[in-house]
Amino acid sequence: MTPSPDVVIVGAGIVGAACAYELAQAGARVEVIDQSTPGSGATAAGMGHLVMLDGDELSRLSLDLWHALAKDLPKQAEFWNCGTIWIAANDDELNAAKTKPGVEMLDASQLYQAEPNLRPGLAGGALATRDSVVYAPVVTRWLLEQAKAKITSAGVTAFDTLHAGAVICATGALTPKLLPNLPIKPRKGHLVITDRYPRLVHHQLVELGYLQSAHGDSNESVAFNVQPRPTGQLLIGSSRQYGVETESIDRHMLHRMLRHAFEYLPALRDCNVIRTWTGFRASTPDKLPLIGRLRDHLYLATGHEGLGITTSLGTAKLIAAEILGRTPPIPPEPYRPERFHG
Ligand SMILES: Cc1cc2nc3c(=O)[nH]c(=O)nc-3n(C[C@H](O)[C@H](O)[C@H](O)COP(=O)(O)OP(=O)(O)OC[C@H]3O[C@@H](n4cnc5c(N)ncnc54)[C@H](O)[C@@H]3O)c2cc1C
Repeated sequence: MTPSPDVVIVGAGIVGAACAYELAQAGARVEVIDQSTPGSGATAAGMGHLVMLDGDELSRLSLDLWHALAKDLPKQAEFWNCGTIWIAANDDELNAAKTKPGVEMLDASQLYQAEPNLRPGLAGGALATRDSVVYAPVVTRWLLEQAKAKITSAGVTAFDTLHAGAVICATGALTPKLLPNLPIKPRKGHLVITDRYPRLVHHQLVELGYLQSAHGDSNESVAFNVQPRPTGQLLIGSSRQYGVETESIDRHMLHRMLRHAFEYLPALRDCNVIRTWTGFRASTPDKLPLIGRLRDHLYLATGHEGLGITTSLGTAKLIAAEILGRTPPIPPEPYRPERFHG
């Protein structure tokens, strides 16, 4: 008879996979359950931008962990330390960007030297050199393989009763279906990928207004966010919508998103698009994830909005520390579920 797992993880996206990896490294026997193919949820839909956000300790810790893990990742994970340029459209944005920690400020001529295809008239930018990109579905599979976790997925209609010391819910935007009282709302996003245009763009390019789109509560918003893939392809984002649960492409959002991208990078107008898709971010009221014990033996690792690929590794460290009674690597309070539930 197979022994009972120490920990059961529901959800085999990058967050569940990272938790499996971290707990297995600490010697725990882990079982992962997914209703679909591992890595096929938001993890497959995401852009894979590994980005540090100002004042967010979890993204800072996670970026360090990504850099440490990079040497072990398979080539197909496409980890690339390309850096992010936060683009300032005017002097006000440029001045505001000076308060960003850990960036190199670029004046207009340095910006155009770095990215000659941006539209004329921009004020400058802030270069975050440690930001990187990765292909998240491959990393997810690799983390699960390293964890040697038992994985039950796709096509399974009935499970045996499982007994475990801890259950981690890592079900992303589908979490409200299991735990309807949690303050998580799906937030739809569109992405576009082009044919190969090597050297058109060299860094992940994001307008400084992106954070307003991501952290604001408007029902619909778009922001300029373009990523060069190591293949030479370009990923074009981003859009955010509440209250839409269908996966189909919303043409008005797609047009709005692309028109906005063309304003920053006119050369995109001449690029061939090869695929367009949508995905759902798990959004919480304060846009921070829910990480930690909810009640009894039930733990949450969900609600990562548009940052869960980046913060998966840090999330796993926090969850493992709590389950194993270790000192957490960063203060866990901002992410604890009880901030909403008392
Ligand atoms: C368009 C878009 C762009 C993004 N870009 C980035 C980016 O550049 N950088 C970044 O860091 N993040 C990005 N994100 C966010 C990132 O993709 C997510 O935060 C992250 O993938 C969440 O991972 P997860 O494991 O929590 O969720 P998911 O990948 O959705 O995994 C959850 C898993 O749980 C399973 N599941 C759900 N319910 C059940 C159940 N009841 N029983 C069994 N299994 C269940 C699902 O099948 C799924 O496999 C983006 C998201 C979108 C939509």
